[in-house]
Amino acid sequence: MNKIRLIGCEEALNRLFDYLDHELDETRRTEVEQHLKICRSCYSRAEFEKRLKGRLTAVGTEPPSDEFGRRIRALLGGF
Ligand SMILES: [Zn+2]
Repeated sequence: MNKIRLIGCEEALNRLFDYLDHELDETRRTEVEQHLKICRSCYSRAEFEKRLKGRLTAVGTEPPSDEFGRRIRALLGGF
Protein backbone atom coordinates (compact mmCIF):
# COMPACT_ATOMS: atom_id res chain seq x y z
CA MET A 1 0.00 0.00 0.00
CA ASN A 2 1.22 3.45 -0.87
CA LYS A 3 2.19 5.76 1.94
CA ILE A 4 0.25 9.00 2.31
CA ARG A 5 2.56 11.99 2.12
CA LEU A 6 1.88 15.47 3.41
CA ILE A 7 1.71 17.62 0.30
CA GLY A 8 2.08 21.38 0.02
CA CYS A 9 -0.35 24.00 -1.26
CA GLU A 10 1.15 24.03 -4.73
CA GLU A 11 0.75 20.31 -5.17
CA ALA A 12 -2.75 20.33 -3.71
CA LEU A 13 -3.88 23.09 -6.07
CA ASN A 14 -2.26 21.33 -9.03
CA ARG A 15 -4.41 18.30 -8.29
CA LEU A 16 -7.52 20.24 -7.35
CA PHE A 17 -9.33 19.93 -10.68
CA ASP A 18 -8.51 16.26 -11.08
CA TYR A 19 -9.66 15.81 -7.50
CA LEU A 20 -12.99 17.50 -8.22
CA ASP A 21 -13.37 15.42 -11.39
CA HIS A 22 -12.67 12.24 -9.37
CA GLU A 23 -9.72 11.44 -11.59
CA LEU A 24 -7.15 10.82 -8.87
CA ASP A 25 -6.22 7.41 -7.57
CA GLU A 26 -6.92 6.55 -3.95
CA THR A 27 -3.54 7.67 -2.60
CA ARG A 28 -3.38 10.99 -4.40
CA ARG A 29 -6.99 11.75 -3.52
CA THR A 30 -6.35 11.03 0.15
CA GLU A 31 -3.28 13.29 0.07
CA VAL A 32 -5.37 16.16 -1.27
CA GLU A 33 -8.06 15.49 1.34
CA GLN A 34 -5.46 15.48 4.10
CA HIS A 35 -4.14 18.82 2.88
CA LEU A 36 -7.62 20.35 2.70
CA LYS A 37 -8.19 19.29 6.30
CA ILE A 38 -5.19 21.21 7.57
CA CYS A 39 -5.09 24.13 5.13
CA ARG A 40 -7.94 26.61 5.35
CA SER A 41 -6.91 28.58 2.28
CA CYS A 42 -6.84 25.54 -0.01
CA TYR A 43 -10.05 24.30 1.58
CA SER A 44 -11.96 27.47 0.69
CA ARG A 45 -10.41 27.39 -2.77
CA ALA A 46 -11.66 23.84 -3.24
CA GLU A 47 -15.14 24.77 -2.00
CA PHE A 48 -15.21 27.72 -4.39
CA GLU A 49 -14.20 25.60 -7.39
CA LYS A 50 -16.71 22.94 -6.39
CA ARG A 51 -19.58 25.46 -6.34
CA LEU A 52 -18.44 27.03 -9.60
CA LYS A 53 -18.22 23.63 -11.25
CA GLY A 54 -21.68 22.69 -9.98
CA ARG A 55 -23.10 25.88 -11.42
CA LEU A 56 -21.44 25.38 -14.82
CA THR A 57 -22.77 21.83 -15.00
CA ALA A 58 -26.28 23.04 -14.20
CA VAL A 59 -26.11 25.74 -16.88
CA GLY A 60 -24.76 23.23 -19.41
CA THR A 61 -27.77 20.96 -19.03
CA GLU A 62 -30.36 23.70 -19.41
CA PRO A 63 -32.04 23.99 -22.82
CA PRO A 64 -31.52 27.31 -24.63
CA SER A 65 -33.88 29.86 -23.16
CA ASP A 66 -36.79 31.44 -25.00
CA GLU A 67 -35.11 34.77 -24.45
CA PHE A 68 -32.09 33.59 -26.43
CA GLY A 69 -34.30 32.44 -29.32
CA ARG A 70 -36.16 35.75 -29.34
CA ARG A 71 -32.91 37.67 -29.52
CA ILE A 72 -31.70 35.58 -32.46
CA ARG A 73 -34.95 36.12 -34.36
CA ALA A 74 -34.78 39.84 -33.62
CA LEU A 75 -31.26 39.95 -35.05
CA LEU A 76 -32.36 38.06 -38.16
CA GLY A 77 -35.15 40.44 -39.05
CA GLY A 78 -37.15 41.68 -36.12
CA PHE A 79 -40.08 39.25 -35.92
ZN1 LIG B 1 -2.84 24.69 1.14
